[in-house]
Amino acid sequence: MSRIKRMIAAIKKVEDSYNGERKTIEEWLAWEKRKREELLGLDKVGKFAYFSAALLQRAMRGEMFEKRAQLFAENFRSEKDIIPKNIERLLKEKNCYRWTIAEGVKIVMDVKRTVFSKDFFWDDYFDKAKREANSGFKDDLFLKMKGVGQKVRDFALSLFLDEYLAVDVHIKRVLKRWGVEKSEDYGKVKEAARRLAESVGLSMWELDRVLWHFGRAVCESSPKCKICPVRDDCEGVK
Ligand code: SF4
Repeated sequence: MSRIKRMIAAIKKVEDSYNGERKTIEEWLAWEKRKREELLGLDKVGKFAYFSAALLQRAMRGEMFEKRAQLFAENFRSEKDIIPKNIERLLKEKNCYRWTIAEGVKIVMDVKRTVFSKDFFWDDYFDKAKREANSGFKDDLFLKMKGVGQKVRDFALSLFLDEYLAVDVHIKRVLKRWGVEKSEDYGKVKEAARRLAESVGLSMWELDRVLWHFGRAVCESSPKCKICPVRDDCEGVK
C-alpha cells in the first residue's frame, strides 16, 4: 500500500466533533452520503436553499453552514418567500452569517434570479458541472456573481456532486504537511488533490471531507502530532 493510501485509511478512524456530534471520519462520510441523497431529492427551492447557503460560506466554521442551510430550507418554501426582508432576517438569526448582511442578501437574490429564470434547471447545471469539473468549470454562471469565489462555488457543488472539492485552510495545511503540495495557489492545490484522489481511489468530494475533518480534529494549525495515527508516515511531523 502506498504511503498516502495508508495515511488515508488510518485517518478515517479518527473522530471529529461536528454540530454537537462526535463520529469517526468514516462515519461522517456515511452520514454525508445519506445527506447527499436527500439533497439530490429536493425540489428546485430546496436545492436553492442549500446551494445559496453554501455560497455564503466564507472563512466560517462548517457548523455555521448547517445552521444557515437549515434556516433557509425551513423558511424558503416557495420562490415567493425568497425576498430581501426574509433573507436579512434569517442571516441575522443565530448569528449564522458574519459578513456584511447586505452583501449576503444580494448574493442570495442574485442566485435566486438565476435559479428561477426560465432557462435554468438543476439537472442540466449539475451535468455541465460534472463535465467541466476537471477544467475548473470556469464559465459557471454563479462564478460570475460578485462575492462568489471558486472556493465557495466548489463547496456548494460538493454538496451535490462527487467531482468537487473546496480547497480550504484545513485541506491546504494537511496536503502541505504530508508533502503532497506546498503551493498556496488554489488551482495547484486542487490539481494535486485531484491526482491524489485518483491514486487512492476516492472521489474529490470524499477526499475533501476526509482531509477537512482530519484538519479540524488532529492536524490543526497547532498539530497534535503526538497522538496522530499517521506520524510515522508524515513528512511534517513535529
Ligand atoms: S504527524 Fe502532525 S503534521 Fe503530520 S499529519 Fe499528523 S498532526 Fe499533521
